[in-house]
Amino acid sequence: MQRYFIDENCIHDDLIMIDTYNHKHMQKVMRYRNGNQVVCILPHGQTYLYEITDIEAGILRQKELINEDHELDVAVTLIYGLPKNDKFEFVLQKATELGVQRIVPFLSKRSIIKTDAKTFAKKTERYQKILKEASEQSYRQRIPELTPLITMKEISQYLSDINLVAYEESSKQGEHHEFAKALQCDYQSLTIIVGPEGGFDESEIIQMEELGIVCCSLGKRILRSETAPLYMLSVIGYSRELMK
Ligand code: SAM
Repeated sequence: MQRYFIDENCIHDDLIMIDTYNHKHMQKVMRYRNGNQVVCILPHGQTYLYEITDIEAGILRQKELINEDHELDVAVTLIYGLPKNDKFEFVLQKATELGVQRIVPFLSKRSIIKTDAKTFAKKTERYQKILKEASEQSYRQRIPELTPLITMKEISQYLSDINLVAYEESSKQGEHHEFAKALQCDYQSLTIIVGPEGGFDESEIIQMEELGIVCCSLGKRILRSETAPLYMLSVIGYSRELMK
């Protein structure tokens, strides 16, 4: 059944006055009529079945609570070296499907893309749309947060119970145990950090180690910067949902 994230200001007791974007989707894409039912996810993730009572005006009435949980049981923050071109959009979409809770893009010494926080901010609306649509498609109850573009110096704000940086040199040196070891610990939140196409400068790694962030390998092969976060999120999902 089609799912929609609903903003707080659309909710009026047990009625929803759907926003223009979702209204258009219901009428023009789904061709819904009065009596059709949809799943609505309210701002804190509560999920309800609603019935369309007036498709012309965009009014829905609450029917019943749906008990479901499609979220990872740990909060994963991905701090990600902004890649060039549209790779970032690809990662936003796939990381959402894989359950990420927060994405923090950063610029570092070896970033190839030439941009700044102001230019990045102009694309936020487009990025939010990607996050919302990927969340709906993957049955999530929460849309991941996308923070402003930061520099390496600001990373400390986004640390968690466990903090890992995927470091290509750890892979080259044959250290392949830290990631799996960390996932065996007891934790509620986890921050993973992945570098841009050019990888990390050694000074950045030293800076992160000083914050208690642990370097890890993602195996014997060097992955593209867009593959690495998706590999990490897949491994986390496997360890939290399929291994239990
Ligand atoms: N230019 C770097 C090189 O040739 O060594 C490779 C950088 S890689 C394309 C981009 C990022 O993905 C890295 O900074 C790291 O965070 C992550 N990464 C890719 N493969 C990895 C691996 N096998 N182990 C650890 N991190 C990896």
